[in-house]
Amino acid sequence: MNQPRPQRTVRVLVDGLGDRVFDYALPEGVEVQRGSRVEVPLRNRRTTGTVVALREIGNGEQLKDIALKTITRVLEDESAISPSLMDLAEWAAEYYSTPVEQMLRCVVPESVRSEKHEPKTRKVVRLIRRPSEEELNKMCARAPRQAATMRTLIATEANCTALSELGGGRMLDVCRALEKRGFVNLESESVYRDPAGEEDFALTQPLSLNDEQKVALHSILEAFEAGDSKPLLLQGVTGSGKTEVYLQAAAAAVSRGRGVLILVPEISLTPQTMARFKGRFADKPGLVAILHSAMSDGERYDEWHAIHRGRARIVIGPRSALFAPIVNLGLIIVDEEHDSSYKQESAPRYHGRDLAVLRARLEGAAVVLGSATPSLESIYNAKRGKYRLVRMEHRVDGQRLPLTRVLDMRSEPKDKRLMGLISNRLEQAIAQRLQRGEQCILFLNRRGFARALQCSDCGHIATCEHCSLPLTYHITENRLICHICGYRAVVPAECPECHGRELKLQGSGTQKVEELLKRTFPGARIQRVDADVTTRKNALRDILEAFRSHRIDVLLGTQMISKGLDFPLVTLVGVLNADLGLSLPDPRAAEKTFQLLTQVAGRAGRGDVEGEVVIQTYNPQAAAIQYARRHDTDGFAENELGLRERFAFPPFSHLAVLTVRSVREDVASFAINTLYKRLKTLLPPGAEISEPLQAPIVKAYGQYRYQCVLKAPRARIFSQIVAEQIARLSPGEDVTVTLDVDAYSFM
Ligand code: ADP
Ligand code: ZN
Repeated sequence: MNQPRPQRTVRVLVDGLGDRVFDYALPEGVEVQRGSRVEVPLRNRRTTGTVVALREIGNGEQLKDIALKTITRVLEDESAISPSLMDLAEWAAEYYSTPVEQMLRCVVPESVRSEKHEPKTRKVVRLIRRPSEEELNKMCARAPRQAATMRTLIATEANCTALSELGGGRMLDVCRALEKRGFVNLESESVYRDPAGEEDFALTQPLSLNDEQKVALHSILEAFEAGDSKPLLLQGVTGSGKTEVYLQAAAAAVSRGRGVLILVPEISLTPQTMARFKGRFADKPGLVAILHSAMSDGERYDEWHAIHRGRARIVIGPRSALFAPIVNLGLIIVDEEHDSSYKQESAPRYHGRDLAVLRARLEGAAVVLGSATPSLESIYNAKRGKYRLVRMEHRVDGQRLPLTRVLDMRSEPKDKRLMGLISNRLEQAIAQRLQRGEQCILFLNRRGFARALQCSDCGHIATCEHCSLPLTYHITENRLICHICGYRAVVPAECPECHGRELKLQGSGTQKVEELLKRTFPGARIQRVDADVTTRKNALRDILEAFRSHRIDVLLGTQMISKGLDFPLVTLVGVLNADLGLSLPDPRAAEKTFQLLTQVAGRAGRGDVEGEVVIQTYNPQAAAIQYARRHDTDGFAENELGLRERFAFPPFSHLAVLTVRSVREDVASFAINTLYKRLKTLLPPGAEISEPLQAPIVKAYGQYRYQCVLKAPRARIFSQIVAEQIARLSPGEDVTVTLDVDAYSFM
């Protein structure tokens, strides 16, 4: 008598349905694994999904009631997800309380997932009718993403751009809607993809390391050989030669047949790191893969497969590169590990550095976190022995760190000419550099011309209709612009409240300083760099190139130019207003200010001439500023950790922000209060929830925002409970609820 054969079944997470899983039978002779991509029948269509579990139902146990459908086919192996990446995605989904499916979308990008073979064409969006300003503002209220797309198109050359430049597949619906309304055409354009990139890189040889570098490299290779995933915190001052250590560690890993992942804050902001890797391995074309956010679907498809097949062994990219399918991964390097761009600010809200540490553990890889100003989380982990600390305290060129002066702007005479923006001391310093043919970098973390337009009679401030923030005046367009949603308004002739005619511009931005500098130094070549100048592709690269070849004397910019740049002729760095970040409602405000100032100061004096840094401030005594003046990272960390411990702030706890958004204020307020009341009674001991409040940015994109902050020794204590309560709230269409675990933004 025939024993019924054991039946093999698979559980499939179907694409595009959140966390819904379905069971299917596996036909005879078909092999799959966890992570395999399959095609399955669902209702009366076929769709794709990922195998998340396998089961065998055998002997005796019967599948009586369920007549399982059978999977229709296994998609090519090429797109299968490795078991450790499956684990990473599942772990992250639980920790950040986000659907697994959403994490898997990071692991297998859309262009690979849809299995549309080798898309040698790309979608291009062309503007065919330019909306009036009035239409645009209306659109901004009803369909902010459509409005943003229109603005990008209006601003780009030839009014035409690739869909990938606008945000890729997720913007397709938005563009289709615009096409229907007659504003744009969607076209297909064929592209030639050169995986090696457009540039040639000259081969560089490894440098002979100094003692500190040798120790650092040795520690990394020791961990690498042992498959020890205990993170190494490489704390090395700017210019101590960390990148050279990374290059040699990567070369060693590759020569032993292992893959390497290098995370950087953002490729366009750190072009030199990328160029140095390309140069060092220039004799092995295709070995280094660069991933970045501005890639077209086709480029992404090519790079993904080159990595998956093991052709590209070294992968460099921003946080999303964390999920690259690197074969036999042996080494992960997180450069500038303190950088807040590692935290994704839209769903899934993961932290790239933290997941890198986890991925290393899952794959038995060594992991290096490098920075001149490590995050307090990492410093604390090193103090309590979870990370191993390696220091590099000297600059390679033997240079001392630049001389740093803090200028108290309160006692600076309010000179009409320089408007209290540039002190006399800084003015003289700039003049001196110009005379000597050296270069300067000036920082101001605010773009636009003036922060706000205020009525001198009644004090009314022009505010965005959709967001609760003042509109910033932009002189180049002579418009008031919202820095959140992009809304534009004409500058009014009189105050809309009291009809007063004296409207004053308050608070200066980069455009204002640019004007001032050009007036003060008429002969100097001055270039502004901020989000407004760099909308065009490659604009930033071209500017940096011009600065490097000394076709620019003074570079004036936002924090955009504070990272990883190395210009030997820069001998002066000026920070125009060091206070801008200090007053933000953010537990990391002091840390971020300290890091920014220290990083910025590291840009001065890398050649033969000693550098000078001038920090202008209205809070000269602030700890962040004083410790930055002395380049004292340890002192700052000690002081700040003391404060954080007292208030049980991170790293002594984990914070999460629960935000409710709605166009109706009463609805948002009701929803947050409901959540708050339920959570208050449900949270286990150790977890706290703050009373609901309006978010610091009360309204954005026309939606009111309310939030609570959760705090606990470990995020896992609350994340599942909160997720359940969000699900149970089943809010209407007009409410969105999000939970941001380990939040970096509290606005
Ligand atoms: P960091 O990444 O710590 O800021 P870099 O690796 O950029 O430092 O090094 C600063 C400069 O010193 C670079 O121009 C680099 O080429 C050079 N450099 C690094 N290591 C050495 C070395 N061992 N000998 C000579 N020059 C070096
Ligand atoms: Zn706005």
